[in-house]
Amino acid sequence: MDNDIRILIGLTDPNIQFDPKSEQHFNEANRNGTDTVTWNLLLTYVTSCEKCGTPIVNNGTKMVTHKGPRSAFKFQNYRIRKQKFLCKKCGYMSIAHLTDIQPNNHIIDKVKQNAAMELSEDVSQKHIAFDDFKSGKFATSGMSMILIDSVNHRILDVMKDCGAGQLRAYFNQYSPAARATVKTIMVDLFTPYRAMIMELFPNANIVADRFHVVTQAYRELNKVRVSVMKQFGLDSKEYRQLKRFWKLLMKHGTALDLKKLSTAYW
Ligand SMILES: [Zn+2]
Repeated sequence: MDNDIRILIGLTDPNIQFDPKSEQHFNEANRNGTDTVTWNLLLTYVTSCEKCGTPIVNNGTKMVTHKGPRSAFKFQNYRIRKQKFLCKKCGYMSIAHLTDIQPNNHIIDKVKQNAAMELSEDVSQKHIAFDDFKSGKFATSGMSMILIDSVNHRILDVMKDCGAGQLRAYFNQYSPAARATVKTIMVDLFTPYRAMIMELFPNANIVADRFHVVTQAYRELNKVRVSVMKQFGLDSKEYRQLKRFWKLLMKHGTALDLKKLSTAYW
């Protein structure tokens, strides 16, 4: 495997290669609308015994699966057939070590570095925000979801499709312990995901985004204006005024020029 491919799959270990016993380099599956790519890999190398320094022999392999970083809207898993070793001199047994993982840890370093995966470690990500947006043909549903760090306003991730199922699958990537550290989640006022958020983030307060509060008020006020306007009828002076001077209703009372109002408008 050359370095370009290693970079593409997100691993740096020079001893990793595609598993020759596997028919395909990777398998693709779709879970709740999000694609998962599982790379079929083999990790083997020649080494000597950690205990006595004697060259050791191969002793079969063990299949281990690690969760990889998300890339290009896909989940990534590494299914690695790891070489097992046996020291014929002292009997010590060991298994090939992937350099992308710290000893005694099961999480790929890159996953830990990935901002969106660091909910438990990074203090700033105790406050997150998400919002859906129209994304056209990009997503099958036409709607995607953006995940933001609400303290520094950095984009953490973009979910191609949004829906309760997709969101659940996405947030289930984080451990329950990591999710429990999230303190606030800023969302749309009328999010249909409220119950799910409370379930997935048991210690988080759901916060209504200021922008959404203002937008909602604006929309409602406009609805009232239009309905009042219609009551007066098309030919009335009130209808024309409510239609033409709609901006005045949106202004703060103190921002209105009352002298101008009495002469120019009415
Ligand atoms: Zn040994």
